[in-house]
Amino acid sequence: MIGILRPYLQYESLQDIPVEDLLAKGIRGLLLDLDNTVAPWNDKSLTREVIDWFEKIKKAGIRACIVSNNQRPDRVSAVADVLGIFYVYKASKPRKKAFYSGLDTLGLQSTEVAVIGDQLFTDVFGGNRLGMKTILVSPIDEKEFAGTKVLRFMERIVGRKARFTRNIRKA
Ligand SMILES: [Mg+2]
Repeated sequence: MIGILRPYLQYESLQDIPVEDLLAKGIRGLLLDLDNTVAPWNDKSLTREVIDWFEKIKKAGIRACIVSNNQRPDRVSAVADVLGIFYVYKASKPRKKAFYSGLDTLGLQSTEVAVIGDQLFTDVFGGNRLGMKTILVSPIDEKEFAGTKVLRFMERIVGRKARFTRNIRKA
């Protein structure tokens, strides 16, 4: 896989990411994708596992902010408020601006922050180019924004070569 598209870590889902590993790697803050990473696309429902995972994150003193390309502030705030974390909406990832506002919100340097998301071309590329650690998770379900489907096709082309070297880690 092209280096800039290669995630630092890869997990099946958000709740599979061990919080103690994040701390051990010096990660003090997270910029999280919303749709299909934290919750299903355009769906407010949060699983018990996701809610519990965020509790662990907070107890560990790791700060979290959602950075979503979703255009609807009410959609993004509905999830962020339940989790008690910050958010940036209409982010235009992989553009740098929203990642910088996320870092400002967290009050942390890029080297202390990991980007977590389900897409190579927005989340992983965006985070890597700013020198952040990136964590790729599998999308929660198949329902997604039409524009995302095009990117998925491209992800498959890029990912094909890398499949054998992928370091998929499950808890
Ligand atoms: Mg997503």
